[in-house]
Amino acid sequence: MKSDFRRTKIIFTLGPATESEEMLEKLIRGGVDIARLNMAHANHEWTRMVMRRIRQVSSKVGRDIAILMDIKGPEIRTGDVSAPIELKAGEIFDFTVKPGVDRENAEEVRSVDVNYRDLVNDIRVGDTVLVDNGLIRLEVLEKHDAHIRCRVLIPGELKSRRHINLPGVKVNLPSLTAKDRADAEVGLAEGLDFIALSFVRTADDIALLRQFLAEKKSKARIIAKIEDQSGITHLEDIVRAADGLMVARGDLGIECPFEELPIIQRRAVRACLANSRPVIVATHMLESMITQPMPTRAEITDVANAVYELTDCVMLSGETTIGQYPLECVQILDKIARRIELEDDTEDREVAVFTGDRMKMLHSAVVLANQIPDSKILTFTRHGFMAHGLAALRPTHSPILAFTPYEQLFRQLRLLRAVEPFLMPFAAEPDATIENAIMVLQQAGRVIPGDKLIIATDILSQDRLVDSVQLRTVR
Ligand code: PEP
Repeated sequence: MKSDFRRTKIIFTLGPATESEEMLEKLIRGGVDIARLNMAHANHEWTRMVMRRIRQVSSKVGRDIAILMDIKGPEIRTGDVSAPIELKAGEIFDFTVKPGVDRENAEEVRSVDVNYRDLVNDIRVGDTVLVDNGLIRLEVLEKHDAHIRCRVLIPGELKSRRHINLPGVKVNLPSLTAKDRADAEVGLAEGLDFIALSFVRTADDIALLRQFLAEKKSKARIIAKIEDQSGITHLEDIVRAADGLMVARGDLGIECPFEELPIIQRRAVRACLANSRPVIVATHMLESMITQPMPTRAEITDVANAVYELTDCVMLSGETTIGQYPLECVQILDKIARRIELEDDTEDREVAVFTGDRMKMLHSAVVLANQIPDSKILTFTRHGFMAHGLAALRPTHSPILAFTPYEQLFRQLRLLRAVEPFLMPFAAEPDATIENAIMVLQQAGRVIPGDKLIIATDILSQDRLVDSVQLRTVR
C-alpha cells in the first residue's frame, strides 16, 4: 500500500555524509523537507558554503527545501585534552573551572577543564556528572574554589570537547551565547528559515531570541528544543512563545529518567497540537542505520509511534551526518510514514484549543473535509495562520494545499504536517487567485476534474475582505 502523499515531514542533519551536491540532489529528490545545520559541529565558512549549495541544488531539482540552523545555547563542554583520557571505575577525577589554578594532589588526580565557571556554585555534593551523552558517569565528592572532585562510576574514554549533562542542576548560563549570536548572524545573512534554540528552559529564552531576530529584521521562525527538566516544567509556556518545538530526545534521555521519555514526547506533541504549533520528534530514530543498511524492529516501531502520535516531523541526526546509509534512512522514514498514515485511526486527534473565531472557522473546514471522501483542502496564506491552524486540526485524509506569494513562508510551510506548499503571486481579486491556484494544481497533477476542494480563504465582499469556507468541485 502506498499513499499519493506523505503527511509527516522529514528533517535531515547535514554533515560529511550528505554535504556533496550529488547526495543533496538524491535527498531532495528523495523527499526531505528541511536541512538542519548543527552549529555544535560547524564553522562559518562551511555554513555559508553548504547553505548556498542547498539553495543551488534545490533550484536545480525544482524543489525548494527549508534550512534550519540549530544553535547550541547554554551547552556545557569539556576543554581540549592532548590525548584521550581512559577513565577507570572508582578513579578520582577533577573538573576544573579555572585552568592553571593549583589543586591539591594535582600530580595524582587527573583533570579536564569545563566551560562553565559557575559549576562549583551550582552543583551539590552527591550530584551526577554525565559526560559524552551519558556514556561516562561520575559522582561529585567534593567542591573546591576552582574544581569539583568526583569518583568515576561508569568508566569510558574522555576525548576533547565532550558534552556534559548535569541532571537536575539549574544551569546558570546565558540562553543565547555570543557564539549563538555569531552563528545566527551568518545564517541570517544566508537566509535561514528556522532557528532552533537548544536547552530552552523558560519562555523568556524564546523572547530573547525573538528580540534578536526582530533587531535583525528577520522573519525566521523559532523552534524551541526541550532537552532538560526546566524545559519540561515550562513546556506549555515555551510552546506558546515559540513557533514550533523539537523533542530533543538525545539530551532529554540523559537529563530525565529514561522511562519518562515516551510520556514527555506524548505530552509535548499534544501541547503543540493544542496550541497550533508544529512539533518535531528527534534523535535516534534510525540510529542503527549509521552502520547498518536496515533499521531494527524497535526503530521501525518508534518511527511508527511518532506518526501515530501525529507529529509534524521526524528528524535524522547522526544517520545523515556521518552514517553510511543516509539516502536509505530517508527512504525508510518515507515508507514507514506513508504506511502508518493510511492506518491512522487516532480517535482523539482533536486537541486544538479554539482561541478565536477564525480557528473555529478553520475547524468547520476540517470537519467538512473529514466528511467528504477524497476531498482536498485548499488555502491561501500570507502570514501562515491559515496553514498552521488547518494543519494543527489534523485532517483525517485531506492534504492541505497551501498557496503563498512569499518565498520564505513557502519554505517554512514544509514543516507542517499534511501541508503541501505552493509559491504563486496572488491576484488582486481573491477569486482570480483561487482560479489560478486550481490551474497550477491541475498542471501539477494534484487535482483532476471532479475533485472536491474545501477552500479556506478570504474573499472580497462589498470592498471588504472576509474569511470564508467554500466547497467547490474542480471542473
Ligand atoms: C538532542 O539532544 O536530541 C538534539 C537534537 O540536540 P543535539 O543533537 O544538538 O544534541
